[in-house]
Amino acid sequence: MIETFRRQTLFAQACVKDILKPGDSAVDGTVGTGEDTVFLAQCVGPKGKVYGFDIQKAALEEAQENIRKNAVETPIQLICDGHQHMGNYPKLSEDSDIGAVMFNLGYWPDGDQSVTTQADTTLAALKQSVRLIRPGGIVSVIAYSHSAGQDEKEQIDQWVGHLDHHYDTYCFEVKNHNHAPTVYLILKKERP
Ligand code: SAH
Repeated sequence: MIETFRRQTLFAQACVKDILKPGDSAVDGTVGTGEDTVFLAQCVGPKGKVYGFDIQKAALEEAQENIRKNAVETPIQLICDGHQHMGNYPKLSEDSDIGAVMFNLGYWPDGDQSVTTQADTTLAALKQSVRLIRPGGIVSVIAYSHSAGQDEKEQIDQWVGHLDHHYDTYCFEVKNHNHAPTVYLILKKERP
C-alpha cells in the first residue's frame, strides 16, 4: 500500500484496476514503452479492447515488443497520432464500454526528450476522454512540474478543479516535495 503511494505510476494503476472489468475497453493516451498499455490489456482481458496513442513511431515499436513479450491476448490498436485526435477514430469514439483512459505526461525517457506533451493538446484530449468514458469510468493523469510541464500541470489543475457535477475529481501530490509528479483522477458518476 505505502509502496503504491510512493510510485505515482503504481498508484494510478491501482485506481484504474479498481474500476476496469473484464470485457471493458480502455485507452492509453501516452503509450511510451507500453507499460500502461500492457497493464490495461491485463485488466480488461481477452474479451476487452485497448487503444493506444503516441506520436513517436519508435515508442510504438518498443511498446509492440513489450506487448509481444507479455503474451497479451487482448486486441490492442496502437495508433501513431496525437491523443487530441482520439475523437476522430470511429471505433473508439463509438465504443460505449470505455472504462478508463490513462495519461502519463511528459517525455518518453528512452527517446527524444524534446518531444513532450503540451498543455493545449493534453487539455483537448482530456476533454474528449471524460466524454468518452462510460458512467463509473475513470481518467488518470500523471503530470510533471519540470520546466516544460509546469504550464501544462497548472492548466490541468485549473480544468480539473472546475469540471461539472457529472464527475468527481481528485488530486494526489507529495506535499513536501515540489517536483514529485502529481496524479489527477477523474471519476464519472454512475448517475449525475
Ligand atoms: N506511459 C508511458 C510513458 C509515457 S511518456 C510509459 O508507461 O512508459 C509520454 C509519451 O507521450 C511519449 O512517448 C511521447 O511521445 C507521447 N506524446 C507526446 N505528445 C503526445 C500527443 N499529443 N499524443 C500522444 N502521445 C504524445
